[in-house]
Amino acid sequence: MRLSAGSIDVQYQPEDHDFAVQLLAAAEDCLESIEGKYHLRRPRRVRLVVLTSWFRFPFQTAPGYLQPSVIVFMPFWALRARRIWPWIGGWQQSYPGGIAAIGIKPPRLIEQSDRSLGEQLFKQLEDPWQKTISLLSHELTHACSHPLRLPAWLNEGLAMAAADHVLEMDTVLPQSRALISEERLTPKRMRQAVLGRDHEALLSLYASGYWLVRWMETNEPELLIELLSSRRNPKLVHRMLEKALECPSGALWSCVQTRFGKSQSHVD
Ligand SMILES: [Zn+2]
Repeated sequence: MRLSAGSIDVQYQPEDHDFAVQLLAAAEDCLESIEGKYHLRRPRRVRLVVLTSWFRFPFQTAPGYLQPSVIVFMPFWALRARRIWPWIGGWQQSYPGGIAAIGIKPPRLIEQSDRSLGEQLFKQLEDPWQKTISLLSHELTHACSHPLRLPAWLNEGLAMAAADHVLEMDTVLPQSRALISEERLTPKRMRQAVLGRDHEALLSLYASGYWLVRWMETNEPELLIELLSSRRNPKLVHRMLEKALECPSGALWSCVQTRFGKSQSHVD
């Protein structure tokens, strides 16, 4: 089944009708917040899916001419999708032509998810709707920043901070700073993290990104907007951060660990 409003539509199974209606209404508010806070542009079209199957999602969202590629490349995407399915709440995929597909698990599936990773980073949200908004704003931020091809840590940190703004509360645990570790942020481990194969590195990547974005929001807001204004080489992004943090060249993660990697209760 499908509902639409403006440039956003939502696909769902009949039992998820009420959730789909709420999701469609909330997406517009999330997009307005992301555009206002980070000056990012929304995708031309947003395809929301009430996510109940990792297998169905690409077939539900890919434009018709890409469906054969979805089948041909299934061995590659299916392996990763199946690996990370138990502990994800949302999913985002961008297609050519400014089309963004976003899957959000309904609360009944979130309940069944493996929270062992998430609970090391995020505060426990008692209200399932708050959790949905957090996931929706996170994935919509990825959709808006997709053309910039941000480094993974900035991509995730930005999406986590965006959820804070939409919900008007801190959603990340202060003690997540202790997860930041220079040795877990090597290029090799970050690649493994993104593939869902190195959980320690993944947690470190999310925590570093989040606390760096929060620091920029407070101390270097113009730098953050500049980083989000055009696509840049990741090495240049690192250099811009190193300069702002007064950190020697090539030592970004060492500086980040020293500066943010402690259990502090405030952003300095
Ligand atoms: Zn993400």
